[in-house]
Amino acid sequence: MLSDLDIARAARLKPIETVAERLGIPPDALHHFGRHIAKLDTAFVREAAKRPQGKLILVTAISPTPAGEGKTTTTVGLGDGLNRIGRSAAICLREPSLGPCFGMKGGAAGGGYAQVVPMEQINLHFTGDFHAITAANNLLAALLDNHIYWGNALGIDPRRVSWRRVLDMNDRALRSLVSSLGGVSNGFPREDGFDITVASEVMAVFCLASDLADLEERLGRIVVAQTRDRKPVTARDLKAAGAMTVLLKDAFQPNLVQTLEGTPAFVHGGPFANIAHGCNSVVATRTALHLADFVVTEAGFGADLGAEKFFDIKCRKAGLEPAAAVLVATVRALKMHGGVPKDQLAAENLPALRKGMANLGRHLANIRKFGVPAVVGVNRFATDTPDELALIQELCRAEFGVDAIVCDHFAQGSAGIEALAHRVAEIAHAAGALDGLGFRPLYADELPLWDKMRLIATEIYGASDIIADQRIRNEFRELQAAGHGGLPICVAKTQYSFSTDPELRGAPSGHVVPIREIRLSAGAGFVVVICGEIMTMPGLPRVPSAEHIGLDENGLVEGLS
Ligand code: ADP
Ligand code: MG
Repeated sequence: MLSDLDIARAARLKPIETVAERLGIPPDALHHFGRHIAKLDTAFVREAAKRPQGKLILVTAISPTPAGEGKTTTTVGLGDGLNRIGRSAAICLREPSLGPCFGMKGGAAGGGYAQVVPMEQINLHFTGDFHAITAANNLLAALLDNHIYWGNALGIDPRRVSWRRVLDMNDRALRSLVSSLGGVSNGFPREDGFDITVASEVMAVFCLASDLADLEERLGRIVVAQTRDRKPVTARDLKAAGAMTVLLKDAFQPNLVQTLEGTPAFVHGGPFANIAHGCNSVVATRTALHLADFVVTEAGFGADLGAEKFFDIKCRKAGLEPAAAVLVATVRALKMHGGVPKDQLAAENLPALRKGMANLGRHLANIRKFGVPAVVGVNRFATDTPDELALIQELCRAEFGVDAIVCDHFAQGSAGIEALAHRVAEIAHAAGALDGLGFRPLYADELPLWDKMRLIATEIYGASDIIADQRIRNEFRELQAAGHGGLPICVAKTQYSFSTDPELRGAPSGHVVPIREIRLSAGAGFVVVICGEIMTMPGLPRVPSAEHIGLDENGLVEGLS
């Protein structure tokens, strides 16, 4: 089979007006970035919001393994599949970050015959949204240091500045540094550091804001530092929110591209899935829902993190009601959960597969707790054997009472995913019938922060309890007392396990979840609870992908996966 890049490059793209027309978007609502990329005008987005909404389908997955699962690929494939069976469908994805593109993971535009295009532009710079977010973030940082320089009227304690500068690059050299060196005219030296742009709270704010007014309001709420007597200092105190909103105004318009089969695809915003909620912008999802009968979207990581945050943060806050979820699994990843090492995944292994199904079962039971009906989509790899595929289907029926549908969109495009498309359309229309109640978040807003975290750990991770030092428990109490108790929790932990130990695959139970840190994201509107090492500025691997990326003799990009 051809490489992802070769397939993407061979594609005949439709002009973006033609793609827009499928959703009834008029040409004058498009701001063009070349022939195949456009942003939707704010006035049109506002107008579209008066139309009825289609059904929202979440694509999530079992706990990730190095064997790969294929959520983005399946999101794209399912959108194409729904269109193929005569439904009007659009997809919504995150924008890729340059960091992983030049590091290890590669691009994030799907794979095989289920990709969004133009793949090179989407993966590199795209419409410049991340640069705008970087600029807005760094404007706030500059205003803060400038405020201290010119007399510090707010009484900011330079030792308690929490706002960091960002860059859309994996660069470990910038993780920890001292800024303002070089003498009196350069300000007051302090310990500082950079995060990657996708980890900026501005990114999370951008993705949760409902409109420009809400964007400005949320930016103003961002806490950047504390005073000497530990009072929070916000972006509003620094009078930064107006100018930041101006920098973000154009970026805030959703980007429209297409899949290889011409399905409209909104690719907009891309927050980290650990210290943020990990899904594309609310404005893109909402706009898509007003324009298509079905909107298929992806949440980062496995369902314990991605789907939980999608439901408890994004859907709760944006008033979205997911109609169905597809849990993506692969034979290879299930075998890894059953104990098979990565280099032995090609051989058939039914006992390991059976064992690994515990991971899938736990995720299915979790999704059920939100009242969302689910179906398993088995993303077929060339090495899967018929007996392995049949075993997954059999066990899903017998043990979990759900259908598992084998999908071959990677190799065949929409023709390989018709069965899943039919099943999803069917269950989405019957939504609410699961238990007669329909979608609901896991916990009520009023539940105290500590109890919310404990509920997530026990109900979703299968843990017996959570623990934290007195200092952290006090911080929970302080946030609660300061009026932030109504916010949802955003857990940052390893995506590889239900526990906090990445090596513990399958479905561990009875473990204790230790909490290392708690951070308020007042602008985004959640409290981040950190359980484990979380890297907000990744480094590059020994041999970065960048070494293989270049232009060929025809000026085309080579080496982008
Ligand atoms: P996720 O969104 O879960 O991170 P992606 O959809 O981005 O996963 O897929 C990860 C990688 O796996 C991509 O490089 C993609 O091309 C590859 N991939 C996905 N599905 C298949 C498949 N069925 N066969 C082979 N490779 C696949
Ligand atoms: Mg993905």
